[in-house]
Amino acid sequence: MSSAENRGTVQVVKNRYKPSGKFHFPSPNTPIRNEEGSLMGVTNPRDIVHIHAYGGESIFFESLGKGKLLATRCDNPDCEEGHGSIFQPFRIHCPDCLVKATVIDMTDIAKKTSRIHTFMITERTGAFNLLPRPLKFINVEFKGVSTVLMGYLCMGEPEIGMKVIPIFNTRAPTSTILDLWWVPEGTGEDQLPENFTFE
Ligand SMILES: [Zn+2]
Repeated sequence: MSSAENRGTVQVVKNRYKPSGKFHFPSPNTPIRNEEGSLMGVTNPRDIVHIHAYGGESIFFESLGKGKLLATRCDNPDCEEGHGSIFQPFRIHCPDCLVKATVIDMTDIAKKTSRIHTFMITERTGAFNLLPRPLKFINVEFKGVSTVLMGYLCMGEPEIGMKVIPIFNTRAPTSTILDLWWVPEGTGEDQLPENFTFE
């Protein structure tokens, strides 16, 4: 990796993406050889900067850094299956009627009613994982919400039915889903990880 100081950044100006700086960083290749030393190929190390557009989900990620968990709700009176349904994860459109859903603040619902629906502990993670292992993934269910949300339990041992509380990276937000972690009910403010708060 080279010239990190010129790493690409993007601004939206008049509704258009305007990249500036470098987005592709090649590194020297290395030969691939067999046991006899014959050349079989080369590695091509490449470092690229992805531009990930949030579109209608921007407000969801922005709000995590402010200690708020937003969801959406179908308010279409003609939607037989979905009317009144609350979606978490945040869905821009109702999957039943395809009408744009209403953004709602469900922070209080999450603080009062979140329980572990099921969980998974993994020792092996995908590329670019930033979380410590073993990694405790939990599926969180909320009262009155139609869907469950995948999340990260950062302390304690998960159990099915256990009450959990959302915590937010409000001090140094990353503008990603990693700004939302979960702790067992009863966790004190002084036990929270660096940069995380209850609200
Ligand atoms: Zn609907």
